[in-house]
Amino acid sequence: MATVYLGLGSNLGDRMANLHFGLHCLETPCVIEEVSSVYETEPVGPPQSLFYNAVCRVETELEPLQLLGFLKAVEREAGREDTSERWAPRPLDIDILFYDDIVTETDELTVPHPRLHERAFVLVPLTEIAAELRHPALGKSVRELLSTVQSTGVRQITGPDWFATEEVR
Ligand code: AMP
Repeated sequence: MATVYLGLGSNLGDRMANLHFGLHCLETPCVIEEVSSVYETEPVGPPQSLFYNAVCRVETELEPLQLLGFLKAVEREAGREDTSERWAPRPLDIDILFYDDIVTETDELTVPHPRLHERAFVLVPLTEIAAELRHPALGKSVRELLSTVQSTGVRQITGPDWFATEEVR
């Protein structure tokens, strides 16, 4: 079993329902161990709608590329269209943040996620569930990485138990 941290984001449609959908889908090939609160966050890059973001820790038997393939299928099922536009709004985006201590960089998959250490919308929720987790390539904890970024524009909008208590199917 691998321990994996995933980042979820949505800025199109019913954002809360999209995050629920993503997590419910993950329950098939993964065991969800912990989920952060949901944060409303300002988009990085060109102006677009505000995101809802959360992160989770899962256990899974899927290999990294199998997991990536599964996540892409879930994103498509949530209504995401294949587009080459990097900043396009999306109903659901799921990134692999950490996969055990693996450090890999290929055309298809880079782990740890190559921009996680710059992104307050990832580091703030990650600090909630894994503050002392060490980035295997940068050698710094999530808490230390958060102290190096501006975290304005990241606003907590739920408690940590939102996925356990709100049933939206
Ligand atoms: P995005 O539009 O940000 O969701 O980017 C998706 C693309 O990034 C996918 O086609 C993946 O092949 C690639 N990618 C590279 N590393 C990762 C990662 N750690 N998690 C998710 N997608 C990744």
